Amino acid sequence: MSKRTIIDQLRESKKLPSPSRVALEIMRLSQDEDVSLNDITKIVETDPALTAELIKYANSTLIGGQSPLLSIHRAAVRLGLNNVVNLAMSFSLLSQNMTGRCATFNYHRFWSRSLAQAVAARSIAEVQGKYDPDELFACGLLAHIGELALASVFPVEYAQVFTQELNRNQQVARENKIFGYDHNEVTAELLLDWGIPEEFARSAGFHEQYQADSIANRPVAELAGLLHLAQQIAEICLLKIPQSGTLLEVEDLAQRFSISTSKFSTFFDRIVAKWQECSHIFRIPSQQCPLYHQIRDFGTTYLSEDSTSIIDGNLKILAVDDDPLTLLNLKKILAADHRDIMIAESGEEALDKVVEHQPQMIITDWRMPGINGLELCRILRHTSITEHVYIIMLTGCETEEELIQAFEAGADDYVVKPFTPKVLEARIRSGERLIRYQRTINHDRELIQQYASRLAAANHTLLTMAMTDALTGLPNRRSAMARMNDAVAEAQRFNENLSCIMIDLDHFKDINDTFGHDSGDLALKEIAAIFVNKARSYDMVSRTGGEEFLVISSRTDPVEASQLAERLRLAVEDHKFVLKDGHTIRLTISLGVATWTPDYPDGDALIKAADQALYRAKLNGRNRIETA
Ligand code: GH3
Ligand code: MG
Ligand code: MG
Repeated sequence: MSKRTIIDQLRESKKLPSPSRVALEIMRLSQDEDVSLNDITKIVETDPALTAELIKYANSTLIGGQSPLLSIHRAAVRLGLNNVVNLAMSFSLLSQNMTGRCATFNYHRFWSRSLAQAVAARSIAEVQGKYDPDELFACGLLAHIGELALASVFPVEYAQVFTQELNRNQQVARENKIFGYDHNEVTAELLLDWGIPEEFARSAGFHEQYQADSIANRPVAELAGLLHLAQQIAEICLLKIPQSGTLLEVEDLAQRFSISTSKFSTFFDRIVAKWQECSHIFRIPSQQCPLYHQIRDFGTTYLSEDSTSIIDGNLKILAVDDDPLTLLNLKKILAADHRDIMIAESGEEALDKVVEHQPQMIITDWRMPGINGLELCRILRHTSITEHVYIIMLTGCETEEELIQAFEAGADDYVVKPFTPKVLEARIRSGERLIRYQRTINHDRELIQQYASRLAAANHTLLTMAMTDALTGLPNRRSAMARMNDAVAEAQRFNENLSCIMIDLDHFKDINDTFGHDSGDLALKEIAAIFVNKARSYDMVSRTGGEEFLVISSRTDPVEASQLAERLRLAVEDHKFVLKDGHTIRLTISLGVATWTPDYPDGDALIKAADQALYRAKLNGRNRIETA
């Protein structure tokens, strides 16, 4: 079926996921050459949820801004035009599609993985320095959107695809069987349809089954490769049981994008941390993902859900000897409840068993046909999943050279053959002590990591709380003062206007006295909403005291400031406040306006001037504006 008809057919159902009207409008506007950031933020502001998401994103450590910012205009400046456009698309899709009707499609997992891929793509772009990291973030987030489209349009049919755990190839094969096309094709066509640049759309479609030589267009091939790497990293983040093998493959792939093997572990751990922070921001459930070294060390034995089993589980011992009698003997001597004993009759068989069972201890004969004990030792020490395994070598004699050879190959201890059960048992116990010790350290390390990430999340929440007024959600006094200092510095440096407006509610005590404190609170919340609604994108509205508000307006001269003040005054005067008991009341406000001049020593002085003007407004009859 031709691609065009895929989209047409999907669209017919009217259930195709689509970015919000606002997001599409932003996308359309952005293609106009004359458009300014200001025009874009004006549109963004009409969607409060989107505004909030963009501000949160701009404040996240992903962007790495210094001071927290609270206005959409400043957020947009920090993010840049393209970014705002891409993020608007992504956020609006995300907010509308966190759940759906396709029974076996895991919506949360879908977004969680998309987010991991977005964060990974962004990080790769940062290291590589070739693409805009933020553009790649959005691209990563949308790179599998075709799946969501199929789940939305064909919830029943698509549910058949996921009736069992599938790898990517199997999934694509099933999709083709059911629909005659797969989600990758849908992704590309859908992104094109939404006006995403062709290069990105095509790369998103190719990246999952990426093979460099099969893509003729070079830029597309390169981008697809980058997205492919990001996808592989995301898959590792979401693996229930991490596999060191996959990790090593991805590490290889990363080298092609200027990420050397020595740096990959830090790179990977940072992606996981950012992914978890982002999940928090966008309220997408994420899951614990072990650190790079944990995945590598534990290999497939690491179980993310049950870390205590790592400490308490049975010890797996592999005995290797080409003599069946010795093996039998070893098995008998080693038998204990807390041990699982496996045997191998050759070095080759031992390697197979190691990969399959990942024992913590290996007791191996030295002399064997094929791979002997010494070589086995060396191979194990050079393989990431076994480099920490405890190895005891069985030697025929105890000459100095032999022992040195054994230790150099990587043995931890040796026992001379023929061994007495008591000596062997003692040696094994000493090895077991070491293994338990190592397990405890790893476990502690993991706990510390979990603790640190919880602490980071808590810090984030605390910072937000410290800067926000709980009742109205507006920035509080502390936040306003910080902004004022920034604003004064900007006004001085760029020789720009700066105004502020102090506002106090008139006779507000009467409202409390007549209708109760709760009604007063309700009115305060409504007033806050009116102010935010009537202020412009670059005004910062804050609640600085009980019923006192401060508006800081950068690039605003006295005339504009008075006009703004009048707009706010009128809006409150015209508003009917409906109380819980159905009563409607009217409120008014008094306002004091002050504009920065170099005569003021600092921001505090400017606020004080506005406060004095406000005092005059009260004296002169309230519900009015006075200027300093
Ligand atoms: P005016 O400003 O016009 O002189 O009269 P006013 O009655 O508003 O006087 P003032 O500003 O001195 O009084 C502030 C009153 O605001 C006192 C208190 O009852 C009320 N108030 C302050 N903070 C809160 C709050 O968080 N919630 C509620 N419900 N009321 C508050
Ligand atoms: Mg007051
Ligand atoms: Mg008052």
